[in-house]
Amino acid sequence: MTDNVVIAGGGIGGLATALTLHQIGVPCIVFEAVREMRPLGVGINLQPNAVRELYDLGISEQDLDRVGLPAREWALVGLNGNDIYTEPRGLLAGYNWPQYAVHRGHFHMLLHEKVIERVGPEAVRLGSRVTGYRKHADGTMSALIEEIDGSTSEATGTLLIGADGIHSAVRAQMHPAQPPIHWGGAVMWRGMTWAKPIRTGSSFVGLGTHRQRMVFYPISQPNRQTGLAMINWIAEVTMDNTEGWKQRGWFRQVSVDDFLHHFANWVWDWLDVPALIRQAKTAFENPMIDRDPVPTWRDGPVALLGDAAHAMYPTGSNGGSQAIVDARVLGAAIVEHGVTQEALAAYDNKLCGPISQLILRNRGAGPFGLLNIVDERCGGTFDNIDDVIPPEERAEFMAGYKAAAGFAIEKLNAAPQIIPNGARAHTLQVI
Ligand SMILES: Cc1cc2nc3c(=O)[nH]c(=O)nc-3n(C[C@H](O)[C@H](O)[C@H](O)COP(=O)(O)OP(=O)(O)OC[C@H]3O[C@@H](n4cnc5c(N)ncnc54)[C@H](O)[C@@H]3O)c2cc1C
Repeated sequence: MTDNVVIAGGGIGGLATALTLHQIGVPCIVFEAVREMRPLGVGINLQPNAVRELYDLGISEQDLDRVGLPAREWALVGLNGNDIYTEPRGLLAGYNWPQYAVHRGHFHMLLHEKVIERVGPEAVRLGSRVTGYRKHADGTMSALIEEIDGSTSEATGTLLIGADGIHSAVRAQMHPAQPPIHWGGAVMWRGMTWAKPIRTGSSFVGLGTHRQRMVFYPISQPNRQTGLAMINWIAEVTMDNTEGWKQRGWFRQVSVDDFLHHFANWVWDWLDVPALIRQAKTAFENPMIDRDPVPTWRDGPVALLGDAAHAMYPTGSNGGSQAIVDARVLGAAIVEHGVTQEALAAYDNKLCGPISQLILRNRGAGPFGLLNIVDERCGGTFDNIDDVIPPEERAEFMAGYKAAAGFAIEKLNAAPQIIPNGARAHTLQVI
């Protein structure tokens, strides 16, 4: 049998892994639980480091322009729309690659289309849930599969990649004592509305406080006739979490009337939040959840990737991007070590520690913390931000954040490709 890789989960991480393995000449198959791929979700950001990897995978600017648009600005504003803090994004910030704000579902469908086109129509087995795995004495493994009709089977391969999301069955088996999902008390309602984009036309805008916040950004170019773009918005409220999350599921579609009252007074001459929300009619409600880090993402021939490895708060807008980077780092390890457990160990050694730190860092308010200071000092409304927070204090607050971002720009621009063009996996063995 030729070395092959079984992937549990056909989300962004699983499909990016399949495309990467195909690029380096490794056969793979994806088992995806849902019966049908549908363009689910709302907006997500693809950071320049992930866009670089997509370009290296042959996913072009034209492809990405079909599912989103390059982000130009990140801005925190006061309740009267005046600037608190702004910074350019993507190419404008000096990266060699853009940042894209995309529709998660359309981007997901794009990846699926590419996998089917390149790896083949049988590459993604829909309606097949991975329930666990068995490790064999010869170092291989079998993924345990349950079909939608209840029938079960096993898929044997050299390696299993658990890319089955935050509720990962592969992770549950790997870390049976892991604590339950962690919820810090914030609830997000995410939706999309056709509206006129403001500021640069592609600005990420955040306003409010950590108790109550609104974030919005366009995920499409404006329509040539109407000037309206698809605006992705996230309305967020933090509530008492001492009794835990009461709803049965973690992700459900709700009527906007369920939460509109929290934002009923958020009307200014520059922004009408209730109108923005109301036009969407429905939204996705989900608590802001993550998982405590685990000490390793690997168990012999099995490794975790994407949210299964590191589900995190979206404060850094990097969950989807990190899943893509994971796939590329794994691919590079396979180029170097072959389809082997050593490759999984190299991948785990490189990412598990630092990304676990990021999970914990994302639990803080991050740059949004500046909104809380403005709220405490002036209730969020001001004419000149310098009167509320002197420039030196703003600079100091943002120093760590800006330093990290600045460092990342230079580091990313200077870094060699994770997988050099034309690289192939180290010798494929026949067993
Ligand atoms: C339906 C959906 C909508 C989302 N919407 C948003 C959004 O609007 N904004 C945002 O920021 N993030 C959203 N996310 C999360 C975001 O996509 C991820 O944080 C990020 O892309 C990391 O991707 P991932 O592939 O690791 O995980 P996911 O994108 O969660 O993909 C995991 C995949 O595995 C499948 N799966 C789960 N369990 C099994 C199993 N046992 N066997 C086989 N397959 C399994 C799931 O059906 C899914 O396709 C959404 C995720 C999903 C699944």
